[in-house]
Amino acid sequence: MARKPVAAPGRRPIRKVLVANRGEIAVRVMRACREMGIATVAVHSEADAGALFVKYADEAVAIGPPSPSMSYLVKERIVEAAQQTGADAIHPGYGFLSEKADFVRMCDAAGITFIGPPAAAMDRMGDKVRARETVSAAGVPIVPGTPPITDPEEGRAFAAKVGFPVLVKAAAGGGGIGMKVVEREADLLPAIESCQSTARSAFGDPTIFIEKYVAEPRHVEIQVIADAHGNVVHLGERECSIQRRHQKLIEESPSPAVTPEIRERMGRAAVEAARACGYVNAGTIEFIFSRGDFYFLEMNTRLQVEHPVTELVTGIDLVRTQLRVAMGEALPFTQADVRQNGWAMEFRVNAEDPARDFMPAPGRIGRYHEPGGIGVRVDSGVYAGYTIPPYYDSMIAKLIVWAGTRDEAVDRGRRALREYVVGGVRTNMPLHLAITEAADFRAGRLSTHFIPDHPEVMARAAEIAAEGPALDLGAGDAVRVAAIAAAVQHHAAVAG
Ligand code: ADP
Ligand code: ADP
Ligand code: MG
Repeated sequence: MARKPVAAPGRRPIRKVLVANRGEIAVRVMRACREMGIATVAVHSEADAGALFVKYADEAVAIGPPSPSMSYLVKERIVEAAQQTGADAIHPGYGFLSEKADFVRMCDAAGITFIGPPAAAMDRMGDKVRARETVSAAGVPIVPGTPPITDPEEGRAFAAKVGFPVLVKAAAGGGGIGMKVVEREADLLPAIESCQSTARSAFGDPTIFIEKYVAEPRHVEIQVIADAHGNVVHLGERECSIQRRHQKLIEESPSPAVTPEIRERMGRAAVEAARACGYVNAGTIEFIFSRGDFYFLEMNTRLQVEHPVTELVTGIDLVRTQLRVAMGEALPFTQADVRQNGWAMEFRVNAEDPARDFMPAPGRIGRYHEPGGIGVRVDSGVYAGYTIPPYYDSMIAKLIVWAGTRDEAVDRGRRALREYVVGGVRTNMPLHLAITEAADFRAGRLSTHFIPDHPEVMARAAEIAAEGPALDLGAGDAVRVAAIAAAVQHHAAVAG
C-alpha cells in the first residue's frame, strides 16, 4: 500500500481553523475542531451575521454583502481574514471555493494549510474532460464520451455512433447545472449552445463535452481518503440515486445494488483514480452504475454533503481524519481495518414549498424541534427564531439515521422525519415521507429516474404537506405572541 510520498510529509500543527463556508457544513467542521482542541474562525456575509455557525465559532469576521460573489467567493478577503485572526489552516467545506485550485495556490503562498487536496490534483480532476483522460489512462472505465466539443458536427458524429439519447455537460460543471439530455438530432445544436452559455456564466468556462446517456442508471460513489505518505484507502460506497434535477435528495450506505465483489472492484478503481492524480485528503469518485457495470463520472475533490452516511457505517470521523492528514500525519487505519457495519441513510432537508413545485421557500423559523433517540443524527445550520436568508442553497439541515439493516433504517428515518418540526417555513420532508412509502424504495429498486418514474410520489408529498406536522407541539408562535400581548395589556390595565 505504501509508496513514494506525493508531498513533503513534514508535520504542520494546526491550532486555529478558518472555515470558508456557511450553514450546516461550517458547524460540522467546527464540531470536529472543538473535539480536537482546535480554535475556529467563521467568515460570514452580512446576511449571515445571526447564523448558527457564526454563533458557534470562537471568532467571526464579516467579509461582505450577501451575494456570494462579494463574500464567500472573494479569495483575497478570506485569506486576509485568516491572516488577521492568526488562523493557520482553512477548511473550504463543499461548494464555494472548495474546488478552486487557484484558491489552494493562494493559501500555499500565504503559508496557510488548505484542508483538502494539492492544487495540482484539483487541476487534474476539476475539469471533467481532463479527469476522464486521467482515470482512463489508469485503467478505470469511463462513460463513452467526446473530447471538448468545438464544432457541433463532432457532436452529431458521436451521437450517430453511440445513438440517442446523449448528455451535454459543462467540463467545469457541478451541482447538476447546465446539463442537457438530448433525445433527437434536431435538439442537439440548441442544447450545445444553451449548455455553453450556462457554463460560461455559472463556471466562467464555456467548454462542453458530450456523453452517452446511460438509461435508468444508479449513482454509486466511493469515498476515498489519502495521506501525504502515499497511503490511499477507500471507505466503501454510497448510493445517491434518489435525485431531483440531477441533485441528490436521499443517500445511503451501503448500496442495495453493490455486492462484496463489486465493492472490491469499485473500491480498487477509486483508489487507482485517486493515485493517478496524486490525491491527498478526502475525495469522492462518482460512478454511473448499470446492471453490475460501473463507469467513472467525475471526482469531487472535497468533503461531500453525504459524508455522514459513511461515517456512521465505518465509525470513522472524516473531518477529523481530514485535519490529521492536513497536519502531515499518516492515516490512522489501513484498508484492512475498514469495515462497514449496519446501514445509514441521509435525508437532505431543504426549505422548499411542496405546493409550488418545491421552489426555495426562505423565511423565519418559528418553533424548531430536532428528532432524537437511538440511531439519529441531525447536522443542521438553523435554530428556533432564525431567519433563512434567500441568497444561498435551500438545504438547511441533514437528517441521518443508522440501524442494523436497511429495513430498520427506513423505519427509523420515517419515525425521525415525523418528529422533526420546522415551524414557519415549508420543507421537503413530506417528499421524503412519500418516497419512503413507495414499495420500490423499500425494496431497494432505485434509479436516478425514481421520481419521474413514480409520479404518485409527488402527489402523495403534497397530501402529506397539507396534513401539517406530525408532531403537535401545541400553540405556535402566533398564538403565544397573542397570549403574551393579552397578559401585558391586562397587567397595564391592573397597574394603571
Ligand atoms: P455533493 O456533490 O457533495 O453530493 P452537490 O453536488 O449537491 O453535493 O453539491 C454540493 C453543493 O455545492 C451544492 O450547494 C451545489 O450547488 C454546490 N456545487 C457543487 N459543485 C459546484 C460547482 N462546480 N460550482 C458551484 N457550486 C457547486
Ligand atoms: P455534477 O458535477 O453536476 O454533479 P455529474 O457528472 O456528477 O455532474 O452528474 C450529475 C448526475 O447526472 C449524476 O448523478 C447522474 O444522475 C446524472 N448523469 C450524469 N452523467 C450521466 C450519464 N452519462 N448518463 C445518465 N445519467 C447521468
Ligand atoms: Mg456529481
